[in-house]
Amino acid sequence: MADLPFYILVLVLGGAVGSFLNVLIYRLPRNLPFIAGRSFCPACKSRIRFYDNIPLLSYLILMGKCRSCKARISLRYPLVELLNGAAYLFFLTYFGLTAMAAVYAALSSVLIAIFFIDLEFQIIPDWLTLPGMVLGLGASFLPGGIGAFGSVIGLIVGGVALYMVALLGDWLFKKESMGGGDIKMAAMLGAFLGWQKVILVFIGAAVIGLVMAVVWMMISRRVRSSRMIPFGPFLAIAAVGAILFGDRLISFYISHFLQM
Ligand SMILES: [Zn+2]
Repeated sequence: MADLPFYILVLVLGGAVGSFLNVLIYRLPRNLPFIAGRSFCPACKSRIRFYDNIPLLSYLILMGKCRSCKARISLRYPLVELLNGAAYLFFLTYFGLTAMAAVYAALSSVLIAIFFIDLEFQIIPDWLTLPGMVLGLGASFLPGGIGAFGSVIGLIVGGVALYMVALLGDWLFKKESMGGGDIKMAAMLGAFLGWQKVILVFIGAAVIGLVMAVVWMMISRRVRSSRMIPFGPFLAIAAVGAILFGDRLISFYISHFLQM
């Protein structure tokens, strides 16, 4: 394969961005400044030296333990680096060397950060969704993009639809079911994907959420109502599904249900 060095470069770049995502995942929900300041061990606060901060490799060399205090390093760190590197490589091979491959790679990075933050803290930081909306609107102008009009309509449909789902949820469960973070995330996805695919994302996320809820009830045999189930991770997974299969699903729907 003549392109092998290029693929390795993309994987390394993806891993390096993944390393930065780990910083965001740790600092954003804790309201720590995320640009300034070196990385430190969460256990002993000692600074992590640059040679101990190489994506994936450092985790393997250190065998998952801090060099100073031997505290176990969360498996999330190498996982995020690997996931982001694999996502970049995947979108490159799926869409070829195109502007949209870069756009979806960037979106996947935002989604990975949201996935892990929402899973642990049940919040989706504005620091991810608001720049994400701008990025989605900007990407609509690129070759293969959905166009500025499609992007704005997608943003509105995404935000308004999830807002209505949230109102319905509040009424059904008599408590706040979904936060403003979910609504902003849906608006961001709409800006990237357009209104048709953001509706697909809702359906997909609801199905995943329902399956997970059933599995959870079978495992735990009781519903822990005190803990809010984060919806962001389901939206993130469904969004990747919509990027990959959205066009085919929409044309299948049109040809089978809209032609009488
Ligand atoms: Zn340490």
